[in-house]
Order: sequence, then structure tokens, then C-alpha cells
Amino acid sequence: MVGAPTCAMACADTGASQSVRAVPIMTTGLPASPTGRKSPPVPVRVRHVEDIGAYMRRVTLEGDQLRFLPVGQPTGHIKLLLPVNGEVEPTLPTMTAEGPVFPDDRPVPLVRTFTPRRFDPKGETMVVDFVNHPGGATSAWVRAAKSGDRAAVSGTGRGYQADPATKSFVLGGDESALPAVGVLLETLPASASVQVLIEIRDEAARVDLPERRGATIEWIVREPNAPPSQALHRALRGAHIAEDSRVWVATESGAVRAIRKTLIQDRAIAPDRVVTRGYWKVNVSNHRDGDYGHDPD
Ligand SMILES: Cc1cc2nc3c(=O)[nH]c(=O)nc-3n(C[C@H](O)[C@H](O)[C@H](O)COP(=O)(O)OP(=O)(O)OC[C@H]3O[C@@H](n4cnc5c(N)ncnc54)[C@H](O)[C@@H]3O)c2cc1C
Repeated sequence: MVGAPTCAMACADTGASQSVRAVPIMTTGLPASPTGRKSPPVPVRVRHVEDIGAYMRRVTLEGDQLRFLPVGQPTGHIKLLLPVNGEVEPTLPTMTAEGPVFPDDRPVPLVRTFTPRRFDPKGETMVVDFVNHPGGATSAWVRAAKSGDRAAVSGTGRGYQADPATKSFVLGGDESALPAVGVLLETLPASASVQVLIEIRDEAARVDLPERRGATIEWIVREPNAPPSQALHRALRGAHIAEDSRVWVATESGAVRAIRKTLIQDRAIAPDRVVTRGYWKVNVSNHRDGDYGHDPD
């Protein structure tokens, strides 16, 4: 039976009892794919796990149905579905006109948003880099992940469509933005210069980023007990940003709002040249994926 779609995905991992089973796999505001179609989640298994930094773990997922997912635009996100309550694999929904519907007799999976660092539909693999942070349900799954573990993936969502005429890009973010920054370094127009500013918790949080001619990378270490991305904000306030640059920033939701305001109001960068994304929010589990840092949150 299809319930009224009033239950947000956030209730999926709280263990709260639910009578409502219509759960948005891709929240409204972002289409499931560049074509706007909802893509059903497909089952995957962990092929390989490796640490690529002190706080970043790379997981290679494989599954023969990955070939059915659209590749999407650079930085376009996926939804990762994980099993809960001791289940071996996540329950998959049936796609209906009302949205994805889960069976009444199985637990709704944990659902979170990530960036495919690499996606090879023909090779049926997807690589996802996860930040290890305290208190995260996905973080806990990733810490224990091993070859053969089951999950599911849907997407990919709309990403960053770079203007080919742009001569210089400025990319800012925290550790959660590193996968997207890696993708952008590989895909932004080859003729453009790229200036990257990344806030990290300490020096050990650095990861290797793709090499690119004309790119500079500045690692900014957060001061002890400072709010997330305060140091990134300060660095962007003082950075040289040419009038015709385009700026992309993804970090904590509150911080990204302050950064956006500084870029547009104080640095006088045209709003249509600034893309901001709230990738997570302090003290909020499963922060929404459609946070563009514009509105009060
Ligand atoms: C479009 C998009 C793309 C993203 N891509 C990636 C990606 O490729 N890799 C990646 O690691 N993350 C990425 N994120 C961020 C990721 O979705 C969130 O960090 C998510 O909350 C992690 O889920 P969780 O189950 O581990 O933690 P949750 O259960 O959602 O949160 C538990 C607690 O952890 C805190 N928390 C969540 N994330 C962080 C963090 N990064 N640092 C410190 N505290 C945190 C929350 O405030 C909350 O208090 C992306 C987010 C979006 C919207």
C-alpha cells in the first residue's frame, strides 16, 4: 500500500515506528538525473576499501546494474542506501508514481548523499570517498566496511555545469568537498586556472588531489575548537578573486551561508558566478541534499 508521503528520509535510521512508506530517494529540488527522471536504486557490493588519508576512506562499489545509472554532470550526487537493524542488504523500494515505496514488513534503509569520485558504468564500478567523522551512521558503516558488504545506490543528481568560457575558477570546501573538488580538477575547462582552498582538521587530513596545470591548492588547518569553515571563510574573504572568476564552495550549511554573503556582498562577485552547497549541518543527521546556501536553514 502507498502511504501519504509525509515521512522524510531522516526518520529512516532513527528506528522510529513508521506507517508511512513512501520515502523520497532523491529529495525534491534536485532531479534524480540530468534528464529529471527518478532512477531506482540499484544493488551494489563493496569490492575494495582503502584509506587515502588519515580521515578519508575510499570504497569501490561494484554491481552489474550500475550500468543503468546515468553518469550525470560533474559533482552530481548519489544516494547511498545501507542496511539497518542487522539486515545484510538494504531493502529496495518499488518505484511508483507517488515515489519510491518500501515494503511494510522490512526496515527502511539508511540513506545519505555522496559524490561519486569515479563512476564507470561500463566497468560496473563506482568509487566513493567518505570522511570519517564522529557520530555518523555512514561513517560507522565505512569504518567497518569490507569486501562483499551490500549497499545500494541511486542517482546521479544534477551537478556543476562549468561555463567553458570561464578563465578562472575558485573552489572552496572542507573535507566533505574533497571528492567533488577532485572531480572538478579533472573536468573543468582545460584552459582555465583553478585556485583551490580546503579547510582540514589537521595536516594528516590532506589527500592527493589530481594534478592540473594552472591549479594552486591551499590547505588551511582549522584552529582547535573553531567552528567549521571559519578559517576557510577568512581565507576566501582575503583571496584574490578576479572579477570574471566563478566560485564554487561546499561545506557546512551555516558556514556556507556566511561565505556566500561575503562573496556576493563584500567581494561584489555576481550571484550567478557563485555556487554554494551546504553538504552537512552541525548537529543534524541526514542534512538535506538540496541546500544551496541561499535561504535561511
Ligand atoms: C551533494 C552532496 C555531496 C556530498 N558528497 C560527500 C562525499 O563525497 N563524501 C563525504 O564524506 N560526504 C559528502 N557529503 C556530506 C555527507 O552527505 C554528510 O556528511 C552526511 O551527513 C554523512 O552521513 P553520516 O551518516 O556519516 O552522518 P549523519 O548521520 O548524517 O550525521 C551525524 C552527525 O555527524 C555530523 N556530520 C555529518 N557530516 C559531517 C562532516 N563531514 N564532518 C563533521 N561532522 C559531520 C552531523 O552534524 C551530525 O551531528 C555530501 C553531501 C551533499 C549534500
